[in-house]
Amino acid sequence: MKTQVAIIGSGPSGLLLGQLLQRAGIANIIIERKDPAYILSRIRAGVLEQGMVELLREAGVGARLDEEGLVHDGFELAFDGRCERIDLKHLTQGKTVMVYGQTEVTRDLMQARDAAGGTTLYDADDVQLHDLKTDRPYVTFTRNGESQRVDCDYIAGCDGFHGVSRQSIPADSLKVFERVYPFGWLGVLADTPPVNEELVYANHPRGFALCSMRSPTRTRYYVQVGAEEKVEDWSDERFWNELKTRLPNHLAERLITGPSIEKSIAPLRSFVAEPMQYGQLFLLGDAAHIVPPTGAKGLNLAASDVSTLYRILLKVYREGRTDLLQRYSQICLRRVWKAERFSWWMTSLLHKFPDTDDFSQRIQQTELDYYVGSQAGRQTIAENYVGLPYEAVE
Ligand code: FAD
Repeated sequence: MKTQVAIIGSGPSGLLLGQLLQRAGIANIIIERKDPAYILSRIRAGVLEQGMVELLREAGVGARLDEEGLVHDGFELAFDGRCERIDLKHLTQGKTVMVYGQTEVTRDLMQARDAAGGTTLYDADDVQLHDLKTDRPYVTFTRNGESQRVDCDYIAGCDGFHGVSRQSIPADSLKVFERVYPFGWLGVLADTPPVNEELVYANHPRGFALCSMRSPTRTRYYVQVGAEEKVEDWSDERFWNELKTRLPNHLAERLITGPSIEKSIAPLRSFVAEPMQYGQLFLLGDAAHIVPPTGAKGLNLAASDVSTLYRILLKVYREGRTDLLQRYSQICLRRVWKAERFSWWMTSLLHKFPDTDDFSQRIQQTELDYYVGSQAGRQTIAENYVGLPYEAVE
């Protein structure tokens, strides 16, 4: 097989890039190791920045998002028994975020790809990338017991943190920056009405908690747990009791509980691999960087990488501007590191660390109090939360 862009991985990065390229008439093939049902069963992110929403609309998949997504003008920070609202819209001259599950984004993109006749090769085993430093790279894999090969101009590595793309770059050509946090998030999905119309991020002496939602009838709640904890040890009752303990009284009293329909523990990690390109291979999304989910940035960073590579490839194929390819990593990394910083800061401010003693707890509360007590502080939080602007490609 031959194509212009071979895309490894059919998560949100790969699907969104594929959809944008498809609409621009740039041929692409997605190679994915799992099947569609498995991909759609993954419960992950849920808060979309305005830049990502606009990109999804540009990709022609904005209709259901605009109908069913919940526009949020603000969120609550809970600490020291009180709640402080960050008014995103007011503090950022009209910007907001959209609550719409990653699973739904993926579903919309898969349907659009099917409708546009795009090729996705699911269940591909032993995917390998070859001749990345030449202008004729190619991808090999096994599918239905047969060896297959895709020749292309460029390879987009959209295969997540554990994928093969980043691993195909020689170790001495890559610098890795990493921080693993000594705790995880225990998440519960339940068909219950949200405790609050907007998200609530809570700092509590027992640890962090987050009240989020997927729709007016479906909630996604999290509590911070130790890195070694097992999901089997968390009955629904234990989870709800812990969540209530960590919320201010007025929220705990109105929390409606119910049976969990999904429960899992996600580890927290900050990770960046530099540069995000090697020869004709470009890394996007989780293949290149991970953030702890506290700032709601993981999925959104994947979207800004897609936007950058898409706009570069448009100029490459329409105007012959191959010089721009060299700038991909630099452009992405400037925004990636700012999101890494914000996610690390939110994590540091809201979680209980093994060495968090009474003094550190007071410092966290005072830092929160200082930020919410200052217009500049609130604005800093708001402009990062709604997402920093995408850099133009020219
Ligand atoms: P992925 O979604 O990981 O997709 C990669 C795709 O590549 C997958 O389909 C995979 O099957 C495929 N693949 C992997 N290896 C290969 C291979 N060798 N060959 C072919 N295909 C391969 N972000 C937030 O902003 N908020 C959250 O609340 C949040 N919660 C999360 C919870 C969990 C448990 C996890 C894991 C992540 C969470 N994230 C969250 C992060 C967010 O989901 C990711 O940033 C986002 O999925 C990145 O998309 P991606 O397409 O780059 O990678």
